[in-house]
Amino acid sequence: MKCRHCDSELSLQLMDLGTSPPSNAYLRVSQLTAPEKWYPLRILTCTNCWLIQTDDYAHYAELFSSDYAYFSSYSTSWLAHSQRYVGDMVKRFALSSASRVVEIAANDGYLLQYVKEAGIPCLGVEPTASTARAARAKGLEIVEKFFGVALAKELVAEGWAADLTVANNVLAHVPDVNDFVAGFAKLLKPQGVATFEFPHLMQLIAECQFDTIYHEHFSYLSLATVRRLFEANGLGIFDVAQLGTHGGSLRIYAQRLDTGDRPKQESVERLLRIEAEAGVETPAYYADFQARADDIRDGLMVFLVEARRAGKRVGAYGAAAKGNTLLNYAGVRTGLLPWVVDRNPSKQGLYLPGSRVPIVDEERLKREKPDYVLILPWNLKAEVMSQLSYVRDWGGQFVCAVPEIQVS
Ligand SMILES: [Zn+2]
Repeated sequence: MKCRHCDSELSLQLMDLGTSPPSNAYLRVSQLTAPEKWYPLRILTCTNCWLIQTDDYAHYAELFSSDYAYFSSYSTSWLAHSQRYVGDMVKRFALSSASRVVEIAANDGYLLQYVKEAGIPCLGVEPTASTARAARAKGLEIVEKFFGVALAKELVAEGWAADLTVANNVLAHVPDVNDFVAGFAKLLKPQGVATFEFPHLMQLIAECQFDTIYHEHFSYLSLATVRRLFEANGLGIFDVAQLGTHGGSLRIYAQRLDTGDRPKQESVERLLRIEAEAGVETPAYYADFQARADDIRDGLMVFLVEARRAGKRVGAYGAAAKGNTLLNYAGVRTGLLPWVVDRNPSKQGLYLPGSRVPIVDEERLKREKPDYVLILPWNLKAEVMSQLSYVRDWGGQFVCAVPEIQVS
């Protein structure tokens, strides 16, 4: 396979996760009697531009089917984060009713609802029908297409040249990264600002967050690689912030290389230095990742088997993509984990791909009073533990498997 950014041949493997179904291919009960498609899941490192990327066996269109069920608005902490972001951007970049804000991967309108509330004209781009529908129900204007240079030109022609573009947790999910990034350079007004949030590669490696690897997640990004990718496609990074979201993310601020004249903040060079000192562009940095991930897998299996032998009951919380990677890599089935609770009603009644663990509502948890609640989206651990604090009333405990098995 060739690198998605620089076209070099990829030879360095970061991790081989065997095979698994697409992590958002939730099953209906009628599909349980049919086979599932399992694709190889392997992560490769480009030793030329250091873009870490998924080997692309899975067909792109199959990964984002119209019933793709991730709705951002089901996380209250993510909503609060988005509301704060909008307030900060309006202030920092003096946005007004004369401005234009465009969000790529607007999902269910979790963020644009606050832009609209502030009286700033905004537009969402969201190719997934079910989430686009939810966004429209909030009164938002949504273009149901994939973003790239072609769509950017259309939007500019329709009067949507942007003062601010927002792209949260989408950069890593795009197969053609060059066309995607070049689209922002086209869409921005001469002094426009583009912000992007994405999980930071250094957190993935440091915390061994291997469960954030799945087919729909094409790239794993350092600031150094993103800067290279952006500069090759007409964008310059002028600021970066480190965030606690999604297990450790970056928010980068970019402008057009040809017209943007915001001064570059010291934060950019500082983080580039930290990355260089850690060795993110050396093979040694990645050498023990697979072995550490295998230890996490073993830790989860030992915990589940021991719990079962001791007659303890375990349920899971959060039918998230990362949970599917973990459960399928470990080979967990319903014998060890009989159900998973999710707050999203559109997921309830479905089954996790691969493991086929049924997704149930919170009533099941309250009724069955399990000894352990395994939190699959560990990035929301604090939020989930506080939401489900009543589990303590019957002596229940919370468990996270990444970066190591922890019972609390
Ligand atoms: Zn490359």
